[in-house]
Amino acid sequence: MTDTTSRETLGFQTEVRQLLQLMIHSLYSNKEIFLRELVSNASDALDKLRFEALATPELLSDDPELNIRVEFDKEGRTLTVIDNGIGMSRDELVENLGTIARSGTADFLQQMTGDEKKDAKLIGQFGVGFYSGFIVADNVTVESRRAGADADAGVRWVSDGQGEFTVEMIERAERGTAVTLHLKSDEAEFAESLRIENLIRRYSDHIAFPVTLADRAQADEEPRVVNTATALWTRSRSELSDDEYKEFYKHLSHDFAEPLVWSHNRVEGRREYTSLLYKPSAAPFDLWTREAPRGLKLYVQRVFIMEDAEQFLPLYVRFVKGVVDSSDLLLNVSRDLLQQNPDLTAMRGALTKRVLDMLGKLATGDDYGKFWSEFGQVLKEGVIEDFTN
Ligand code: ADP
Repeated sequence: MTDTTSRETLGFQTEVRQLLQLMIHSLYSNKEIFLRELVSNASDALDKLRFEALATPELLSDDPELNIRVEFDKEGRTLTVIDNGIGMSRDELVENLGTIARSGTADFLQQMTGDEKKDAKLIGQFGVGFYSGFIVADNVTVESRRAGADADAGVRWVSDGQGEFTVEMIERAERGTAVTLHLKSDEAEFAESLRIENLIRRYSDHIAFPVTLADRAQADEEPRVVNTATALWTRSRSELSDDEYKEFYKHLSHDFAEPLVWSHNRVEGRREYTSLLYKPSAAPFDLWTREAPRGLKLYVQRVFIMEDAEQFLPLYVRFVKGVVDSSDLLLNVSRDLLQQNPDLTAMRGALTKRVLDMLGKLATGDDYGKFWSEFGQVLKEGVIEDFTN
């Protein structure tokens, strides 16, 4: 039984409140992106668990198949995205879904104009994430349990997105997180099998874990896998469409806009790695904040290792987003070990060249003006920092 006395009501941080309102208003015409955002978060949670399990394999033991389940209930008008990933403790849940930690957020929100199109673009640059669920839901329930914690360390978070949320401790048999959207009465389409399946195929096909779909009213039916479920960068260029590259970019960067160009390469020989580098079309709002996260997402043999590995590219191309997946680095590589790795200098040189080549190609086309007006200032730092190029 749940102990209702443990339920607490808390207020959202002011910035969250503002963001929620702006998002619901300005992203309404793109409302379907909420599903991509939830699946993307679920995938990140699985990546994080797989990483922690390198050091603590017991975390996976009772439930080793990492996956994402999407379940719908047409009658009840709900849509649930479930992952058996890292999960969240009570404090993490309150922190992650009640506050925004990025510095400069308040200033950023001040730039909002009230004009739907302009604001949608700005919010896109900020990254939309979990809160986008409130575009289509009038109530959201999140149930979670941190991997490795006991069953009684489950936690339930409930909010109508108006300014407050409740949290309470619950029993939860499985680790990971379930996000349930109670859909608004005119958004019932998102509890329909075909609609959901199309959205997953369109926006989340590149997710490296299986995404299954199941109808809660048909409990005896096996959930069906509806995505390709292989890491996109491991597939060959010839089998990937522009749209697939673009959707992967959005997942990777949390950017709402499309990338300007990308470069996907496999290097073989003494050092083996795959890189997929993107040039965003617009600068993030915190391009000039020194402590803002930057760098590539690092995988070693497809296992996610770290976000924002800044060692692979020089600072003057910090707007580049991408993935590097190495076959040679050790799975236990850390930021410090990376710094000391002698192979890294060569990799960094090669990746920098790729970026400059990508820019060179842009320079011959119509998009270079666009690029220069957004990033020219940053690139000029390279004149001082990078004598080789
Ligand atoms: P972002 O994903 O851009 O950081 P979100 O608002 O979507 O922003 O999510 C905020 C944070 O909440 C995430 O950084 C993550 O720590 C946590 N979170 C969201 N969804 C999940 C999930 N399914 N499992 C574990 N943690 C999650």
